[in-house]
Amino acid sequence: MTNGRHISQEDLALYAMQALSTEESAAVRLHLAECALCRAELAEFSGDLALVALSVEQHPVPMGARERFMQRISASGMEPSQRGAVVPIHSPIQSTDERPQRKRAVWVPWMAAAALLVLAISLGVEVQRLKVRLDHESSLAARLAESSARAQEVAEVLTAPTAQRVVLTAAMIPAQPAGRAVYLADRGALIFQANNLSRLPENKTYELWLIPANGSAPMPAGLFRPDAAGNASVVLPPLPKGVQAKTFAVTIEKLSGSDTPTAPLVLSEAAPAAGE
Ligand SMILES: [Zn+2]
Repeated sequence: MTNGRHISQEDLALYAMQALSTEESAAVRLHLAECALCRAELAEFSGDLALVALSVEQHPVPMGARERFMQRISASGMEPSQRGAVVPIHSPIQSTDERPQRKRAVWVPWMAAAALLVLAISLGVEVQRLKVRLDHESSLAARLAESSARAQEVAEVLTAPTAQRVVLTAAMIPAQPAGRAVYLADRGALIFQANNLSRLPENKTYELWLIPANGSAPMPAGLFRPDAAGNASVVLPPLPKGVQAKTFAVTIEKLSGSDTPTAPLVLSEAAPAAGE
């Protein structure tokens, strides 16, 4: 680009910034009118400046523009003596006579400022984007941890061996076996608690059943034996997701459990439809 007959990139940059003197600008305009190569170079440079201006709001600076700025900075930094001494040869507009030294003095600080501006803008945009994302993800993590901790606390209270379980009934009526099922069909998650269960022979167990709403066969939902006080629970037995329950039931089965419930039902509870 700097073969003496074309306008140097530095001059084009200064021209784009309207930093040349009136005479210099006129000379550049004259050359641009008949040189497509320099016009293209100027268009590219103006595009860079426009992108810098636009990117203040939201767009990251294109890598190409940033690299070109940095290359020019390092080029002017690495050969200071040469650039100082050979200035006239690089001044293409008016042969060699009076391209003033100050142009160099203006150029280098401007490039440094421009490069810093570009870096600051693109780093600022990047930092802001990362900050937004970090905020979002840490609040998400906090919410997950919160709901997970709450779920764990609920499960711990429901299933703790030391939990006090009180069943309230009408006065004078002896306590009856009772069961409570909490079921989330879309997760296949079931928590079942029973109280006042009768003791079983050694070779028998209680078995919990999920009776599907679609009329298909009862599904085994866990074996359990009550403690000395008649309490028992079944927490999150392995069940497929998405099975709507018509009801739950408890039977007495052989110790290894059964594939189908054996009459009679010890406990049976109607499951209200979700949302009601
Ligand atoms: Zn040219």
